[in-house]
Amino acid sequence: MMKDNMDYYDLFAAQLPRERLYKNEPMKLHTSFRVGGPADVLFLPESEEELILALKLAREASVPCTVIGNGSNLLVRDGGLSGLTIKLGEPFSGIEISGDLITARAGESLAHVARAALEACLTGLEFASGIPGSVGGGMAMDAGAYGGELKDVCVSARLLDPKTFAIADVPVQDLCMAYRSTRMLQTGELVLKASFRLQKGDYTTIRDKMDDLNQRRRDKQPLNFPSAGSTFKRPEGHFAGQLIEQAGLKGVSVGGAQVSPKHAGFIVNAGDATAKDILDLMALVTKRVYEQSGVQLEPEVRILGEDLQ
Ligand SMILES: Cc1cc2nc3c(=O)[nH]c(=O)nc-3n(C[C@H](O)[C@H](O)[C@H](O)COP(=O)(O)OP(=O)(O)OC[C@H]3O[C@@H](n4cnc5c(N)ncnc54)[C@H](O)[C@@H]3O)c2cc1C
Repeated sequence: MMKDNMDYYDLFAAQLPRERLYKNEPMKLHTSFRVGGPADVLFLPESEEELILALKLAREASVPCTVIGNGSNLLVRDGGLSGLTIKLGEPFSGIEISGDLITARAGESLAHVARAALEACLTGLEFASGIPGSVGGGMAMDAGAYGGELKDVCVSARLLDPKTFAIADVPVQDLCMAYRSTRMLQTGELVLKASFRLQKGDYTTIRDKMDDLNQRRRDKQPLNFPSAGSTFKRPEGHFAGQLIEQAGLKGVSVGGAQVSPKHAGFIVNAGDATAKDILDLMALVTKRVYEQSGVQLEPEVRILGEDLQ
């Protein structure tokens, strides 16, 4: 494996468009937590052909490769991401509606998909209207809120195997989707698009439900601070935020990282936090909650990259 990120850059720059290839790109610019060291090389593909070419180049040279969406569930360590990072963004957006079936590409925002469902008077995706992720990231995480999860409405997804580059339409029952756990997280397969089966509904009812859920978010969540949403998964039979609050940790800080005084389930970047601050605070919270309640918290945020040397 190559070690020097200069070599990495040159390797990819020889075959990929340089205007969308970034060297030592700070990941804090691409994550909602606003922390994270540099990606050796970040590539923003504009087509599936470019995506596959980049994956092939990385594979042939044994360069590690990470694919991200909107970066709203990521904690990238301060040493950054080694190898190639591929961000699926706007060029991978697009929504098609056929009857009660809505199909969206990986780079489309979940909020836009929910909005398109509203415009088509289709109900079932209201829960997703305030989740700040992409369809690809949402599918990989089985994103959900207020009693809904993508697995409940998904019928299939188009997956790209990053090892064989085969593309297949996979029915939802084979995606192993469960609360924040999916086949894609296990295998590294990439979501290119996903289809959701909704139901005919009434425009005003759908809109009112979205408005209500988004108001509840604004009332309860620290949306004015950078975060990655809920830091920990919901433990069976409990709420992480409640356990953290009961352990007396609301408002507790490590460096620039803080357990939100508004919602203890969120660790926020209260100003110039490092990834290490956040990780240290997560470790403190996990330890204290276990001591207080016997419940073992598990991170919901995806922790990537390397510590600073
Ligand atoms: C304020 C706030 C509120 C939030 N509220 C919620 C909520 O209510 N419910 C909820 O579930 N989450 C919530 N989140 C977390 C986050 O928005 C979701 O997990 C979202 O689905 C992540 O999508 P993303 O595109 O940002 O993915 P990223 O954060 O970029 O990536 C997340 C994971 O998905 C993988 N991935 C990304 N794209 C693809 C792809 N195309 N194919 C395969 N794998 C891929 C990545 O490798 C990574 O492992 C919240 C976050 C914030 C900041």
